[in-house]
Amino acid sequence: MRGDDLSMKRPEEPLTTSYLSHKAFKECKRLWLYRYAPDRIVSGEALWEVIREGRLLPTSALLGRVVDDVITAALRFRKRTGRWPHEPASAVRKVLGDYVAFSRDWANAVANREKWPRRSDRQAIDRLYYGEEFDLDEIEELISRGEELVKRWFNFPLVSDLDALNVETWRIPEGAVTPHFLLGDVKVFAKFDFMTVEPERVRIFDWKTGSVQRGEQGAREQLHGYADYARHALDIPLSRIELFGVWLSANFTSADSVDEGLIESLEAAWTAQARSASASLSRLAEGTGDLETEFPLTEQRWLCRGCVFRACPQHPKQIAPEAPCSDV
Ligand code: SF4
Repeated sequence: MRGDDLSMKRPEEPLTTSYLSHKAFKECKRLWLYRYAPDRIVSGEALWEVIREGRLLPTSALLGRVVDDVITAALRFRKRTGRWPHEPASAVRKVLGDYVAFSRDWANAVANREKWPRRSDRQAIDRLYYGEEFDLDEIEELISRGEELVKRWFNFPLVSDLDALNVETWRIPEGAVTPHFLLGDVKVFAKFDFMTVEPERVRIFDWKTGSVQRGEQGAREQLHGYADYARHALDIPLSRIELFGVWLSANFTSADSVDEGLIESLEAAWTAQARSASASLSRLAEGTGDLETEFPLTEQRWLCRGCVFRACPQHPKQIAPEAPCSDV
């Protein structure tokens, strides 16, 4: 890693955070730096490589992303046409195929130093970028699990609840604009999955494909973040909001009212994290802080195995920086 031109980097950044940014900062500050401010530590060819790596979709998140995309497309279709798509689970194969095709196009463009393909609704899968192909059995297994999860979603009572509502109450974030709100001078991004807004009742949903046991606390915090978005950006009182984690993997829906104490502690944590990241960036730029102290590599080394940043010296499959690319 090169840190030779830090003094030339911009000293001030707008303060921003999100559930993912906050999580990354807690788990590995170096990962946060690679993802959100790579130009503070690398330049030239190495910077392009880190920027590319930051755009990759981890293979571990692929199934969840495909299932989310299929459900979101079904909701949009129902809202637009008044009916649900015929055999919605069959879309899993097409969407997964799209991710694979996009990944190959993207990796080829990088290898040929051509302009990278751009799609706001697709990301290149990390292992395809790194030249590790899926075999046919893996693809079929992913499709079969994805179809099963989508079928489960359609079997939840939630679907008939939604059918009973006017679709004007439905809120589905559009890809181009990430929902956000201001917490003082900190911009907080909150890309919820789905929300219904009725005069007396607001329901916020998150579709979950992972393990309930491992993910429940994180999901609760994530949903509370969306509740805070609804309060700040849509002016909805917290007392009217209900939170639902729809756990497709376990055929289980968690229902929660808003815990105002948790919102308060999350707001304090987001603000502290945004300020801490900004202060570390400033110290790096001024030369009063060093990389290892301000943005250390994680001590939880198991996280490195699934990390998209193979430019990192601690990654078990660390790679050398690639040649420069013509565009981002
Ligand atoms: S490889 Fe490990 S230390 Fe490096 S950025 Fe990723 S999680 Fe952090």
